[in-house]
Amino acid sequence: MPHYRCCVGGCDNDSRYPEKVLKRGHVTGDLTWHYFPKDPKERALWVKNISKGLEDFVVSDYKVVCSNHFQFGKPTFSSHVPTLYLVASDTSKRSPRKRKIPTRNDNGNSPSNAPKKCSRFQEAQVQCNICFTFEQLTREHDVRFYTGLPSSSAFRLLFEQLSAKAREMHYWTGEKHAQTSHIMASKVIRTARALTLEQELFLCLIRLRQGFPVQDLAFRFSVSESTVSSIFTTWVKFMCKELQWLILWPDRSIIQRNMPDMFLKYYPKCRVIIDCTEVYIETPSSLEIAAMCWSNYKQHYTVKFLIGITPNGAISFASPVYGGRASDAFIVKDCRFLNSLQPYDEVMADRGFKIHDLLSFHQCFLTIPPSKHTNLQMSPKEVKTTSRIANVRIYVEQAIKRIKHFLILKRELPISLLPLIDDIVIVCSSLSNLNEPLSL
Ligand SMILES: [Zn+2]
Repeated sequence: MPHYRCCVGGCDNDSRYPEKVLKRGHVTGDLTWHYFPKDPKERALWVKNISKGLEDFVVSDYKVVCSNHFQFGKPTFSSHVPTLYLVASDTSKRSPRKRKIPTRNDNGNSPSNAPKKCSRFQEAQVQCNICFTFEQLTREHDVRFYTGLPSSSAFRLLFEQLSAKAREMHYWTGEKHAQTSHIMASKVIRTARALTLEQELFLCLIRLRQGFPVQDLAFRFSVSESTVSSIFTTWVKFMCKELQWLILWPDRSIIQRNMPDMFLKYYPKCRVIIDCTEVYIETPSSLEIAAMCWSNYKQHYTVKFLIGITPNGAISFASPVYGGRASDAFIVKDCRFLNSLQPYDEVMADRGFKIHDLLSFHQCFLTIPPSKHTNLQMSPKEVKTTSRIANVRIYVEQAIKRIKHFLILKRELPISLLPLIDDIVIVCSSLSNLNEPLSL
């Protein structure tokens, strides 16, 4: 069966994905696909209009245009050239409100009920088509819910920090462009964008915080799905670069100075508390990736990374992301975490971390709760040590909870986001550090 993909820039309609097909309000009946006319004059008119949205548009006999771009949902006698939603920014516009009543439609009949229905539909669309903005959040509670930031002033500060450089950003336009040009973003500089910079940051934070799918955000912000993907990828890469300084590995003296009492008393040499956390991912289509990502522990495909936190609760280390099959010890060894340590540093970790030898090699020592012997009871001393460490470890769990507060890391990660996961972890960790210090 042939499949059709609309060739208009900014339109993602594709007959292979019927669930994603977007039908505009003025289209009555099913969405249909239309080949370019054979007549050269007519064909030139189509190309002229469609190339508005795509600079290097090349016509071919196989390309099709979907119903959305025709005034009456298909080429008709009175309106046979595509004129609607031809550039990406059009997607945020509604159908033209003032429309000349056609003298006849393609059946040769005078229009009766259909156009009237259309115009009423458009009125409804005009009222609903309000784009989501940060200003609409009036309660701090909602700011935390949508952005993961502690307050609206934190959002403003963050935007102020980023906006000057963000204006110079080159936007991501997809894998193909990146491969051909060997740079991550193509040369589409910020020209007429569908959203303001502030809305773009807002959109990106919402996706990190709530993990909403692209389709949902496209609807909320009245832009195309490809625009959402482009904005998200661009901003995540940008924020990763600009915010990673927030993940700071402090000097030993600074750690000592800010150490909570409980640590001072029992673990005065503690430099860092570490743990690994796993993120569920969709089943990879590549067998190789699938093999790397199968986690026996979670019985699911996952990716995994190491987090280090200072005794007073700031994230001081975030490793690159590994496939879920990697062991904790392997990640510790591979991710250069050990290079950050100095002799005599104490590292606190969970039982799973079999890294005694690795740490001894760096003249550091490991504190882990004594292992449970299945048939033997713990000695009173062991019980005391275990509960003491367990208390302290609540810190790490709280810190990891903070990162997972960004639900994109808690929900099943779409495979399409796998290439971005390192950046996503860094951004979420950095933003977590904008919160108040942890308290026990
Ligand atoms: Zn289309």
